[in-house]
Amino acid sequence: MVQHEFNGLPCMSQIIRVLVHGASGRMGQALLRLAGERDDVQVVAAVSRSRIDSPAWLAGGELANAPAFDVAIDFSLPAAFDAILALCVQRGVALVSGTTGLGEAQRAALDAAAGKIPLLWASNFSLGVAVLHDLVERAAQALQGWDCDIIEAHHVQKKDAPSGTALTLGAAAEQGGATPHYAALRAGDIVGEHLVQFTGLGERVELVHRASNRDIFARGALHVAAKLAGKPAGSYRVRDLL
Ligand code: NAD
Repeated sequence: MVQHEFNGLPCMSQIIRVLVHGASGRMGQALLRLAGERDDVQVVAAVSRSRIDSPAWLAGGELANAPAFDVAIDFSLPAAFDAILALCVQRGVALVSGTTGLGEAQRAALDAAAGKIPLLWASNFSLGVAVLHDLVERAAQALQGWDCDIIEAHHVQKKDAPSGTALTLGAAAEQGGATPHYAALRAGDIVGEHLVQFTGLGERVELVHRASNRDIFARGALHVAAKLAGKPAGSYRVRDLL
């Protein structure tokens, strides 16, 4: 972390140095723009699949040359994930990741890394979805024996299906005793919609979240990254840092 000086005196506030991994993507662009609006974080490196001709940008293969940073924020692809996790472990710094579609070995590597660095992986960084998880678990508990279906819709470029958020909502439903089934729709530029539907005989309960702007995810990720940097090693949840 970087200490400021004010009139020659050390200042109490600290600037968190951030590496953005997946910086040229839809989420990466939102992160760079919103980081520029905060005075407590400074993006010191931006990493994408190929290099962009600008001093702070690196290609994925050049990660070892990254300058010192306090926390990496990763919204990339499963194929790029192992390298950023390894770099954070090697440097002993925090990692916030929202990359979805990770394989089983990658999930196991995440669990192992939590013994060495502060780590937060979340399928969704929005406050509304955090609340929806609790509502889904409560509904599943109260509506035993009802059918539970999770229907999600995203833009056509999204690679994984069902979405990471649908699977996390499904885990909350299972926690409450339901057995969820999934359906995924890929259409146009939909940012992200999740409907959790409980169907009984002659009645239906629908819990819906609609994201209309991906800034909500980027804001949440920046917020937790600023809090995670410098924390003891461990696996953190968004709600731990709100
Ligand atoms: P995108 O395809 O627009 O961007 C992907 C980024 O990864 C690009 O910058 C690309 O250059 C980079 N990349 C690819 N290969 C790389 C490599 N080998 N090394 C370094 N960088 C590499 O995708 P997106 O829409 O921005 O989404 C990114 C991820 O975040 C996806 O997994 C998506 O599902 C997830 N996501 C999560 C949340 C959440 O709240 N958790 C919200 C939105 C998206």
